[in-house]
Amino acid sequence: MREERKWLIEHQVQRTSKALESNGFKTVYAPTKSDALKEALKLIPQEAKVGIGGSVTAREIGLVEELRKRGSNVLETWRKLSPEEDLSIRRGHLTCDVFVSSSNAVTEDGKLVNADGTGNRVAAMIFGPPRVVVIAGVNKIVRDVHEAMARIRSVATPMNVRRVGGTTPCVTDVCNLEECKPPSRHCHAITILEKRPIKTDITVILVGEELGF
Ligand code: SF4
Repeated sequence: MREERKWLIEHQVQRTSKALESNGFKTVYAPTKSDALKEALKLIPQEAKVGIGGSVTAREIGLVEELRKRGSNVLETWRKLSPEEDLSIRRGHLTCDVFVSSSNAVTEDGKLVNADGTGNRVAAMIFGPPRVVVIAGVNKIVRDVHEAMARIRSVATPMNVRRVGGTTPCVTDVCNLEECKPPSRHCHAITILEKRPIKTDITVILVGEELGF
């Protein structure tokens, strides 16, 4: 990576971390994917019941495999499951020991902005699991909530909907709120964590590489 690019990333991460910390979130900087994996594992005790949201990032850094290798009880829905099993795992996310997710956007003024179709992911980030680990590549950093919403509608959601084979307007063209109807609509719940919810310990690992959607 060119020195100027590295400088820009570190500068952006520094500004964002400072704002996140002042909003009550803990932060860690991981320059690479493998550093991110090490930092995430440090925050997850081996005996913990670990919930993983539909995070491409957690999978890209190899966290799911590593947790399984360690023998942790991992609750995740990226397998063939019956509707009953799927629902039970999503409910389990609300009562696990550590919940792992990425964030659709992290703002430079220290907020986490997310869209969710089912709602278990954003719910678990707010209350339930005592510890939440958010892993976000540098591509998730945006200036403010306005840019975060634009990122959700034009970058994160179209790719997520395409990943699950959905057919929303943003997949074939651009976001169209009027024409986008359940059940394939992905943006049912939009959350903005302006400050850390008081009963939840949230650490944001900012990674100096592009990860996830
Ligand atoms: S509201 Fe619908 S069209 Fe717009 S981003 Fe969400 S899923 Fe896509």
